[in-house]
Amino acid sequence: MICTIGYKHTKAKEMQMKVRGESMKFNKESFKSDFKKKIENMFGMELNDSSKLQKYVALGSLIKDYSTENWIKTNKTYKANGNKQVYYFSMEFLIGRLLKSNLINLGIEEQCADALKELNIDFNELEELEADAGLGNGGLGRLAACFLDSMASIGVPGHGCGIRYRYGLFEQKIVDGYQVEIPDNWLKEANVWETRKDNKSIIVKFNGNIVSEMKNGRLNFTHENYTAVKAVPYDTPVIGYKNNTVNNLRLWSAEMVETEEEFDFCGFSKGDYGRAQNYKSSIESISQILYPDDSHTEGKILRLKQQYFLVSAGLQSILRSYKASEKSIHDLDKYVSIHINDTHPSMAVAELMRILVDEDELTWEEAWRITTNTMSYTNHTILSEALEKWDINIFKELLPRVYSIIKEIDRRFKDEILQKHPNNWEKVNSMCIIHDGKVRMANLAIVGGHSVNGVAKLHTEILKNRELADFNRFYPNKFNNKTNGITHRRWLIQSNPKLTEAINEAIGKGWVKEPKQLVSLLKYAKNEDFKEKVYNIKKENKEVFSNHVAEKYGVKIDPNSIFDVQVKRLHAYKRQAMNLMNIVHLYNTLKENPNMDIVPRTFFFGAKASPSYYLAKETIKLINTVAYKINNDKSINDKIKIVFLENYRVSLAERIIPCADLSEQISTASKEASGTGNMKFMMNGAVTIATLDGANVEIRDAVGDDNIVTFGMTAEEVMNHEKYGGYCSRDYYNDDMRIKRIIDGIMGGQFGGYNNEFNNIYNSLINYNDEYFVLKDFDSYVKAQDKVNNLYKNRSKWMEMSITNIAHSGIFSSDNTIKEYANEIWNTKPINIK
Ligand SMILES: *Cc1c(COP(=O)(O)O)cnc(C)c1O
Repeated sequence: MICTIGYKHTKAKEMQMKVRGESMKFNKESFKSDFKKKIENMFGMELNDSSKLQKYVALGSLIKDYSTENWIKTNKTYKANGNKQVYYFSMEFLIGRLLKSNLINLGIEEQCADALKELNIDFNELEELEADAGLGNGGLGRLAACFLDSMASIGVPGHGCGIRYRYGLFEQKIVDGYQVEIPDNWLKEANVWETRKDNKSIIVKFNGNIVSEMKNGRLNFTHENYTAVKAVPYDTPVIGYKNNTVNNLRLWSAEMVETEEEFDFCGFSKGDYGRAQNYKSSIESISQILYPDDSHTEGKILRLKQQYFLVSAGLQSILRSYKASEKSIHDLDKYVSIHINDTHPSMAVAELMRILVDEDELTWEEAWRITTNTMSYTNHTILSEALEKWDINIFKELLPRVYSIIKEIDRRFKDEILQKHPNNWEKVNSMCIIHDGKVRMANLAIVGGHSVNGVAKLHTEILKNRELADFNRFYPNKFNNKTNGITHRRWLIQSNPKLTEAINEAIGKGWVKEPKQLVSLLKYAKNEDFKEKVYNIKKENKEVFSNHVAEKYGVKIDPNSIFDVQVKRLHAYKRQAMNLMNIVHLYNTLKENPNMDIVPRTFFFGAKASPSYYLAKETIKLINTVAYKINNDKSINDKIKIVFLENYRVSLAERIIPCADLSEQISTASKEASGTGNMKFMMNGAVTIATLDGANVEIRDAVGDDNIVTFGMTAEEVMNHEKYGGYCSRDYYNDDMRIKRIIDGIMGGQFGGYNNEFNNIYNSLINYNDEYFVLKDFDSYVKAQDKVNNLYKNRSKWMEMSITNIAHSGIFSSDNTIKEYANEIWNTKPINIK
């Protein structure tokens, strides 16, 4: 890590903290002896003989021990007080590392690092040994992780529910410029944070057939000949910031059933070892891998299995503990909220209906009332390729009972539509759940819950007025906005300790608990001393990272150059290609005029491409090809450098974002629902170059036009072109000599690469008419970049912009977002844990 923990801390400070009850009771001497004992107990050796990895494992386990008492206490308090519990269902949790985050939230990170130093142990070294838990693809998964941190830190009784993938998102290696995917074996060493709870296992049933029979005047359904899968929970404590709250993240692992009787009903005779082996691996495959897709669906049966596995295990376990509380099942919606993160877990609607109707024998109407009051759903995208649809034949076979329930939900919903709009089959077709041989998962989530939220103002408006306009008219009060957020604890306090310190010195520490107080920094936006201080901190961060780049990539970069950073998943709509085109344009211009007066710039890219997304992988190769040529061209006097950062992930984001001067948020307007990378950069003092898309619009509204550089088409313009046509990308290629030169250069081997290597990119831009308007926005992007160049020359002005961005970033803390979810969707309140 680039950050150093632990400037001198004093006894007085420790006492002060205790008095204010700000942190757990921490005693350095007893910590040191606890730590030594832990190593002895875990590894049967003395501290001095233990390896670094053993030291890390012991430290993590000890920190977990420290949180256990409050973990139990929190759970007990929730039970005793009967507080409403929120369960956040998500197929992805992009957690990253937890060691430092947990220490910060416990309020003991300085003391702990000090104590380790006294034992001659470098905390930063141990920190690097933790696997970066990558159980998610990008923004959606990271949002879930930030929300967990905020729920615990605010004291909202909210828990995560997900899958414990044996392999997380692949590790990316760049070999000869190409992306190579390596399995992410994140559990290779012990995961110190989790606790396996065998006794809380659940059986999830697949396939088989449904038998119905009249009993006491009621139609009963039994599931026969099914395949049983055992879901085993692994619990991870989610530690709140200095408040005693420890919530739970429960991740499920799929295993084969073990006992004789469990095994029996799977229909194997004892000696049938081969079939049993196949059965075992087919079951374990359910929690084996995370699908490496971002922004488009993966239509695989295994994916559908994963979704039901999560939903069924999660709901059964919630209801088991609810029923143990002896509250009435009719009050479930008063005590439980289930949140569906994107459409992936939307089967929760049907599964809860199944449990309430089949197992608890409620009437359909009562079960529906409870279900719709319990469920709420977040929409994350309007990209049509990302809207999940399942073939009914696949669905029916894998989940016969759930399918018949969805059919009944759909039948009743269609009746309701027709009652309101007699004979309006257009409305029926646009809103019904089962359509054209497919189950539409978004429609299920909308119909089956009481709230649908978008993730930024613009996105929600597009949902309400365009994509889901029929639904919005049908359910006028269901739609609402909750702009995404990020936890300022990880993305500022943890990742940028020097800036944190500077902010504390300027405005005190109130912002830590109430991030909107960062706005007090505005007073310093014109203060030359403070500007210099923040400038120097950025420069120090850049220097540390430059050394890392030299060491890892063998590329020498100038810490005084503008650090221009685009890190995010690789996707055509995010337009990494447009960024690269501008770089090539700049290079071509410099070649003609080597003395051109530009501030030296280092362009950073970091992005994983889905392994089956060829265009994206080709873009990575192109970036590396261009980088190689430009980085080695002496004639441009090191004025531009390009670095492709390998294996972009949470821990790398934490290192690069504090170094950024410029944040690239250049998606085609209307396509990026919110973005959260944009918020992390802003919080660390980067200025944004942005299209008016997603939360960029709200960033602009917060900082004002003078403190952001915007360009390009509006969402309205993009959507009108999509609807009415009128864009011909080839005209831009033919008419704009810069564009022609860039594309002809790339295709003609100016940068290397074999024949036709970049054909997919060429085709998408020219032959398929540039779906994401790269060529159309190119000119205004170049002008915006030119503006950045000029602004940066005036350091005082630039730093004013930078500080203004930091000052307004508090509104994007996920603490605020979670407060809105709690008040307006979940109807739950924070609780103090004594
Ligand atoms: C924040 C984050 C993202 C999301 O970035 P966007 O720019 O909003 O797409 C993706 N990956 C990682 C590792 C992140 O930390």
